[in-house]
Amino acid sequence: METSKSTPHAVIVSSPGVGHLVCDLELGNRLVTDHSFQVTFFVVLEYQATAGESQLIQSAEAQKLLHIVVLPPVDLSGQVEPSTPIFTRLASVMREIGPTLRSAISALKPTPSALVVDVFGTPALEVAEEFHMLKYVFVTSAWPLALMLYAPILDKEVEGEYVDQKEPMRLPGCMSVRLEDLVDPMMNRTKPEYNSFLQVGSGMRKSNGVLVNTWEDLDAATLTAMREEESYGSAPVYAVGPLIRVAGPPASRSQLLGWLDEQPVESVLYISFGSLGVLSAQQITELAWGLELSGQKFMWVLRLPSKKDASVDRSRGDDNALDYLPDGFLERTHSLGLVVTQWAPQSEILGHRSTGGFLSHCGWNSSLESILSGVPMIAWPLYAEQKMNAMKLAEGVGVAVRPKIAPTKGVVGREEIEIMVRKVMEEPEGKAMRARVKELKISGEKALTPGGSSFNAVSQLAKQMHEREASAVSH
Ligand code: UDP
Repeated sequence: METSKSTPHAVIVSSPGVGHLVCDLELGNRLVTDHSFQVTFFVVLEYQATAGESQLIQSAEAQKLLHIVVLPPVDLSGQVEPSTPIFTRLASVMREIGPTLRSAISALKPTPSALVVDVFGTPALEVAEEFHMLKYVFVTSAWPLALMLYAPILDKEVEGEYVDQKEPMRLPGCMSVRLEDLVDPMMNRTKPEYNSFLQVGSGMRKSNGVLVNTWEDLDAATLTAMREEESYGSAPVYAVGPLIRVAGPPASRSQLLGWLDEQPVESVLYISFGSLGVLSAQQITELAWGLELSGQKFMWVLRLPSKKDASVDRSRGDDNALDYLPDGFLERTHSLGLVVTQWAPQSEILGHRSTGGFLSHCGWNSSLESILSGVPMIAWPLYAEQKMNAMKLAEGVGVAVRPKIAPTKGVVGREEIEIMVRKVMEEPEGKAMRARVKELKISGEKALTPGGSSFNAVSQLAKQMHEREASAVSH
């Protein structure tokens, strides 16, 4: 594709998974609409696109802001199994995509000035070096980023398993991390995903900058620490968020939104565990009872129970998630709530005036979507860096409540669920959280407007890319 010399051209490579695609696309859109960029957007898939990935790709293609190229999936047979932990699987995919990416970039004339990858894409930064492009990494939340940047130091200094230490993990200038909240790959240092995790931290340290999906007001201390403390490396850190998918046009209104239209303002608790989160069969039962006991309105995106749940017989092959609800639950709660098993229009649901709470797995996109909709949360972390996000939301900024027992450690009982739901939806504590989250919403929106901190950060990046482009032309 020929590009005009006056328009900087950046390449974004999005690693598999809705959670990456959703914010990578939004970063691309911002570069184009607010900073006059041309963006070629490479989508990397693990196998075939999932329902969520397909919807995002189609709507981005329809918008026509980005030049979207879906790269052919890499063949990982023999290297990884579907049961291989996600961190190792995605790291392998992003290593193997190198040759395909190299030939795709060499076809772009003139060569783009910058390559932006997400957290799994650091192996692809080698390709950027070959083409003398600036290399950036775009990551989700700030506190887990600090942990990742600091991990190579911890690796040298801490002996034995991190989870066996006596004190929380200290991060200079940042909140310490409780050992049980550490990210999954740090839970066992003998596993391959720990090495992949360390390599991500080292790769980011060698980049021209790390972009993080937050804003200065939300993560002031963590951002300052990463910039001022040498132990986090010297890659500049730019807070460019909150970048979230904007709700679709009214034409795409679904039956779910129609149901929300009928409900009172801020009366509905929305429940979803992201693109990958699943519960055990027993936890589904407890959650259902907790909701029923609370008497609050709800909309629940229900998935089949976890494949790891030994109590579930998967041999039938005709599983329906609704079969895991307690007998008579749907009939008894039909005037209170909706249970859906398909992909839900989450941004639109959270943005609806009737939604008043979100029981969430605390994926960072979901967390930002909740904040930007002014909706307080019940933090129910399941995997990856979600326990840190939950801690930040509950104790760091006070917009969420958390169960006493970590949902990954055991079953959260119906009584505790009932208490949390009531707290968020109707008690003074919930009202205080709602007021706080609305303040954050305003500060996040402000950060993105011209003159705001995140807008300015992207302008700085744009300037660097312009300069790289100008120097390439003059050589
Ligand atoms: N999402 C959605 N419908 C669903 C489930 C998820 O639109 O039924 C979207 C959600 O709005 C968010 C993304 O998928 O933008 C999930 O990203 P997140 O970082 O929250 O979690 P992940 O799936 O990566 O764990």
